[in-house]
Amino acid sequence: MAKLIVSDLDVKDKKVLIRVDFNVPIKDGVIGNDNRIVAALPTIQYVIDHGGKAILLSHLGRIKTKEDEEKLSLRPVAERLSELLKKPVTFIPETRGTELETAINDMKDGDVLVMENTRFEDLDGKKESGNDPELGKYWASLGDLFVNDAFGTAHRAHASNVGIASNMPQTAAGFLMEKEIKFLGDAVDDPKHPFVAILGGAKVSDKIGVISNLVPKADHILIGGGMTYTFYAAKGMSIGNSLVETDKIDLAKQIMAEAGDKLVLPVDSVVATEFNNDAPHKIVDGDIPDGYMALDIGPKTIAEFKDILKDAKTVVWNGPMGVFEMSNYAEGTLEVGKALGDLKDATTIIGGGDSTAAAVQLGIADKITHISTGGGASLEYLEGKTLPGIAAISDK
Ligand code: AMP
Repeated sequence: MAKLIVSDLDVKDKKVLIRVDFNVPIKDGVIGNDNRIVAALPTIQYVIDHGGKAILLSHLGRIKTKEDEEKLSLRPVAERLSELLKKPVTFIPETRGTELETAINDMKDGDVLVMENTRFEDLDGKKESGNDPELGKYWASLGDLFVNDAFGTAHRAHASNVGIASNMPQTAAGFLMEKEIKFLGDAVDDPKHPFVAILGGAKVSDKIGVISNLVPKADHILIGGGMTYTFYAAKGMSIGNSLVETDKIDLAKQIMAEAGDKLVLPVDSVVATEFNNDAPHKIVDGDIPDGYMALDIGPKTIAEFKDILKDAKTVVWNGPMGVFEMSNYAEGTLEVGKALGDLKDATTIIGGGDSTAAAVQLGIADKITHISTGGGASLEYLEGKTLPGIAAISDK
């Protein structure tokens, strides 16, 4: 059933609590990349343009000590938001109490307020991350309506998403959440075929759930990155010093049996004597020789992957094809990214920080249909799991 969306609500004169994902990279008070703030703008703008009062809650990093609080205040984020919205934004350095309550009660229609990092509540018994019932109820009492636009935390049941929702008559999705659910949901439940999933990254254990869920749905599952060599080991091939998860070899065998020829493993690799960009390296077919580790997919694999991708109508990509942080092992990841950018008539979806970084590095981000803002959340969605933050959003 379709979810209730912020545009279904009458926000005029209402105090609208909005859970956003402002979990941006930040160092010494300087924001490294404001993509997540920009991604939350449509929902905030909608609420204020329609006469609502926008009260924003977000976490930022993890708070374990008092020193973390100094490094992870949302104040710089509120300042950046004010620049982006081109209007004043009130920042309250508290997560509860009289100062916050007074500031909320003084808000006029169209005003925006950001409260302090919700995880400051974690110092006192993990109240935010542990979804403390009293905290969710308290935050809910500060507003009239609740909108959840934080897809990046939707796989967690925290006080600021599920806790507030369970104390509100209705919870609506923001526009970013709506977009994430639409693109990932269509890919998983109603993909246009051929549907190709490209899965890479270091560990097979992180992607097992996704592979299992996509085997019956996808037409091809292309495997790259370090996890390839657990599959190689499962086939009885030699892997040299490549990454391997020995406790996942049986599972890899099981997946290969279920997937049959849908699962496409690299036929060649770039191998090096050490985990180092300057180490001697070469291209080998199949088995990885002793004394070498595989750090990227090879040119024959790139060609094969491109050939499969050219007819795709839906593509989901998560995880690099090699150690793309080192220039000598980046080609597989960059070529796959280029192939996605070149597709004309397909829905292309990227999830995960590394694949997104590769798309940005290639300058093809604007050619991708949807770049998910939530790494962990998008993986759990692709695994077919119910995300508590999404389950807590009301149906229409
Ligand atoms: P993940 O977080 O699981 O998506 O993994 C991303 C990391 O996997 C990146 O930092 C890559 O450098 C690393 N990676 C990809 N391919 C390999 C490989 N063949 N050997 C070792 N590390 C790899």
